[in-house]
Amino acid sequence: ENEDLKLLILENISQEAVRAFQAQGFHVDHSAKAMSEDELVEKIGQYHAIGIRSKTKITERVIKAAHKLLVIGCFCIGTNQVDLLTAAKAGIPVFNSPFSNSRSVAELVISEVIALSRQLFQRAHEMRSGLWNKQSKGCWEVRGKTLGIVGYGHIGAQLSVLAEALAMRVIFYDVIPIMPLGSARQVETLAALLGEADFVSLHVPELPETINMISKEQLDLMKKGSYLINNARGRVVDIPALIEAVQSKHLAGAAIDVYPMEPSANGAPFDDQINSWASTLCQLPNVILSPHIGGSTEEAQSMIGDEVSSAVSRYLNSGTTIGAVNFPEVDLRAITSEQGDHIRICHVHNNKPGVLRQVNEILSPYNVEKQYSDSKGDIAYLLADIADVSSKDINKLRETISHTSANILT
Ligand code: NAD
Repeated sequence: ENEDLKLLILENISQEAVRAFQAQGFHVDHSAKAMSEDELVEKIGQYHAIGIRSKTKITERVIKAAHKLLVIGCFCIGTNQVDLLTAAKAGIPVFNSPFSNSRSVAELVISEVIALSRQLFQRAHEMRSGLWNKQSKGCWEVRGKTLGIVGYGHIGAQLSVLAEALAMRVIFYDVIPIMPLGSARQVETLAALLGEADFVSLHVPELPETINMISKEQLDLMKKGSYLINNARGRVVDIPALIEAVQSKHLAGAAIDVYPMEPSANGAPFDDQINSWASTLCQLPNVILSPHIGGSTEEAQSMIGDEVSSAVSRYLNSGTTIGAVNFPEVDLRAITSEQGDHIRICHVHNNKPGVLRQVNEILSPYNVEKQYSDSKGDIAYLLADIADVSSKDINKLRETISHTSANILT
C-alpha cells in the first residue's frame, strides 16, 4: 500500500536513502537540486513526505500548500531551514540527525591535538614556501599530556575514549554529573580544568551561558604553553582575546573550526568583512583554521542518510515520532500478527483541556488495544491501536474523525 505515498527527495540526498525508501514501496521523486519557495508551493501538494538538506526552505507558505504532507526529513544536523512551529501546528513532525557526525568531530580533534603539538601546519606551510626548517624545540609527544574536555556529551565522550587510546590523561568539565568513560575524571569547575589541561577542547552547545565562555579571563587561567581547540560553535570563544593570548605566547597554539560569522557558500572569501579580526587570525603561527568541517565525512553523510530515512519510514509506517525535533515523542510497540487485524490511529490535536476527552469519546465504542499520548507546547499527539475493526468500520472511523488532523495506518 506504500506506493500510494509519494516522497519528494531533494538536494542530492544519499542514494542509499532513496533506495531504502523505494525498497519499502514508496513512490520516490528525487533531484540533486534544492527547490525555491515558489517551486515548492507549486509541487508540494502532491507529496506525503519531503527530504531536504539545508538549502530548501520549508516556510509557512510552503506548509500551507502542503495539503497531504505528513512528515519532513532534514538530512543534516540543523533544522533552521524549516518553520518548525508552523509544521507542528499542521501536524507535521520534523526529523534530523543531530549526532551522526560525533565520531568525525572527535577524530578531527585528535588530529589537531597532534598537529598542534608537533607544529605540523607551520612546518607544512614552510615547506610549501620552499623553506626547510627541521626542529624539535617546542614540539611534543601527546602521550602523558592532559586533555581537558569542556562538555562531555556525544562528541566529548567519543573524544575521551580516543585520547586515552593515545595514553593522554583526560579530565572534563560539564554542567551535569556524568559517568566518566575509561579513566577520565570529571572536575568541579571550568577554572580547575583550564588550570590543569595541556589541551582544552570545547564541545558545548551555543547557549546564552556558553557565548564567550572562553574570554580573556579564562585564557589567562590556561597553562602557559597550552593549546585551545574549538570545534563547537563560533561564539563560544572570544576570538580577539584568543588572538592576544597566542600573540603574547601565553598559548602555544589553537585550532578553530567554527566562527561567529561563516561565509554562506564554498568559494566565498573568509576576510575582515565577515569577521573584523579574520586577517589577523589567519596570520598567526601554529593556529590551525578549518572551514567548519568537523562533521564533514563520507561516513557521517551516510549515517545521516540511514538515520533520517529510518525515522521518516518509521513515522510513515507506524506513526512513531521518537527523535522528532518539533513534536511530542510517542511510540507504541508494533502489533503482532497473532493479535489479529488492527488499525493504528495517529492523532494530532491542540494541547487544550477537553480535546483528549473528545477524541476518546469517538474511540470509545471500539476495543482499544493500546494507547499512548504526549504533548509538546501547543501540540498533543496520540497513538491508539484498535483491534478487530472491519474495513467498513475503518472507513466509518476515518469519516468520524476527519474533522481533526488524523492519519490512520492499517
Ligand atoms: P551534546 O548535546 O551531546 O553535548 C553537549 C554537552 O555540553 C552536554 O553534556 C551538556 O551538558 C554540556 N554543556 C552544556 N552547557 C554547558 C556549560 N555551560 N558548561 C559545560 N558543559 C555544558 O552535543 P554534541 O553532539 O557533543 O555537540 C557539541 C557541540 O559540537 C555542539 O555545539 C554542536 O553544534 C557542535 N558540533 C560541531 C560540528 C562541527 O562540524 N564542527 C559538528 C557537530 C557538532
